[in-house]
Amino acid sequence: MTRKAEYIKGDQYLFKNRTVNIEELAERKYLLSLEKQFSMKAGHVIAITTNKTIEPRIYSLCNGENDEYLQVLFDLHPEGELTPQLAILNPGDNIFVSKPYGSFMPVSDQNMWWIATGTGIAPFRAMMRSGYKPELLLHGARQASNFYFEREFKTALKENYYRCSSGTDGVADYYGRVTSFIDKKNSLPANNKYYLCGRALMVVELRDLLISKGIPYENIISEIFF
Ligand SMILES: Cc1cc2nc3c(=O)[nH]c(=O)nc-3n(C[C@H](O)[C@H](O)[C@H](O)COP(=O)(O)OP(=O)(O)OC[C@H]3O[C@@H](n4cnc5c(N)ncnc54)[C@H](O)[C@@H]3O)c2cc1C
Repeated sequence: MTRKAEYIKGDQYLFKNRTVNIEELAERKYLLSLEKQFSMKAGHVIAITTNKTIEPRIYSLCNGENDEYLQVLFDLHPEGELTPQLAILNPGDNIFVSKPYGSFMPVSDQNMWWIATGTGIAPFRAMMRSGYKPELLLHGARQASNFYFEREFKTALKENYYRCSSGTDGVADYYGRVTSFIDKKNSLPANNKYYLCGRALMVVELRDLLISKGIPYENIISEIFF
């Protein structure tokens, strides 16, 4: 049976969904679990809102394709419109969610480098939990508590999981930003696919750096959290 959208906003069709769980993983960072009403692919996003007066915002899914629930990892913006509402959800509360969609899709016939900062790690957890393996996963964060899902990544990817901390020396594998880690590399595999995810400034800076180091533009795939 085809489900009927509860709320149509522009070209977005949103469906009533139920909060399954909400967990604060670190200060102002939450993991929200929702009912899985439609199938999804690793790399997909969903649009979410808590009520019809708030414009839906987009979030990367961080659950695996075969996991029971949809999950998003979000950053609480205290002055923002939607995330303060998301952060006070309780299990059982209704919200509005679109079907999963998007184009930040992994490949299986080429080596991949995944590079994320902050909550930009979300789609890579979805990819890892769906059976994809990168040659390298580089995660940048300021503090040790912001290496979300660290244990899962270490178990699945072993030494191919590499943490860069720009905050405190000694909490990660590399002291400095992900851009500095890449900048220090003498050569990079040009035929790999480079997946970048995070805030605009990091993604644009890193994309330009990769191009300056000989990576063809078409081998750089970006998802920007704006
Ligand atoms: C493809 C894509 C994927 C994304 N995936 C994720 C994800 O997985 N996780 C995630 O956390 N985010 C993700 N985002 C970002 C997300 O969609 C929202 O933009 C973000 O959660 C902010 O929503 P908000 O309604 O709380 O803030 P908004 O109301 O949209 O405000 C945006 C910013 O402006 C500031 N602001 C707003 N009003 C004021 C004011 N009056 N005074 C001062 N400052 C103000 C807020 O603090 C906030 O920093 C993604 C975005 C895109 C495009």
